[in-house]
Amino acid sequence: MANFDVVLLDLDGTVYHEDHPLPGAVELIRKFQREQRRFACLSNSAGSPLRVMNRLNAMGVDLPPDSIYTAAAAACDYVLEHFPLAAPGQTKPRVFDLATESIREMLDGLVIWVQSGGEPCDVVLSGAPSNAHATEERQRIALQLLRHGASLVALCADRVYPSPRGLEFGSGAHAAMLAYAANVKPFFCGKPDKVFFMELCHRLKVEPSRCVLIGDNIESDVFGANAVNMATILVLSGVTRRRDLQQLPPDRQPDMVVENLMELLDSK
Ligand SMILES: [Mg+2]
Repeated sequence: MANFDVVLLDLDGTVYHEDHPLPGAVELIRKFQREQRRFACLSNSAGSPLRVMNRLNAMGVDLPPDSIYTAAAAACDYVLEHFPLAAPGQTKPRVFDLATESIREMLDGLVIWVQSGGEPCDVVLSGAPSNAHATEERQRIALQLLRHGASLVALCADRVYPSPRGLEFGSGAHAAMLAYAANVKPFFCGKPDKVFFMELCHRLKVEPSRCVLIGDNIESDVFGANAVNMATILVLSGVTRRRDLQQLPPDRQPDMVVENLMELLDSK
């Protein structure tokens, strides 16, 4: 890790699982803080960095929100940077929130909130179908807006995500449903999509090749980071198992594999 300027640390399955920290996670973050190493935490969460910060706080980890980046934050950044103002006199992008309260908190005051299907709309922002704002009625409004020309921006392309009830439909599955019905193509903002890593590096003012990413998911963490030239450490405390690596060609393998973050506590 000492060979890199910034360490990127995935959260779900790497640092915590639901509400408890994984072995070595709290100690590793404290070690980074003690050594004043530059690092950031990342997640495909539909929550804002502020909400994730509070969650980490409850586990005894004290981090500022600007060292946390989520798919929801990436989607908000994308909307603010990429949506030109269509109508004369329009000062802000017009957005329909089919995702979460976090989206509302992060974009409030910066966009015009669309409320109904008959209004002009630039972007429909979608997350998982279980998100608070994805009621059946609001899904129908979103469909109408998309069929009238709004762009579909999804928080991330995750097919599913784990919950205490089992697997839930993910943001990617919901976007596929909306995209199919409206005959549009969704844009994804979270891991493993390039926009997520590039926006994060832009915020941190660091070249991707100067970063090492530590994550538990071979697809969203390792392949995503590899695609932008980051080094990778796969931790086997979450989604990916050692047997998943057997079929992969050498150029798709992580640079290092560890069982859990305790193995990194003694490394430089
Ligand atoms: Mg993860």
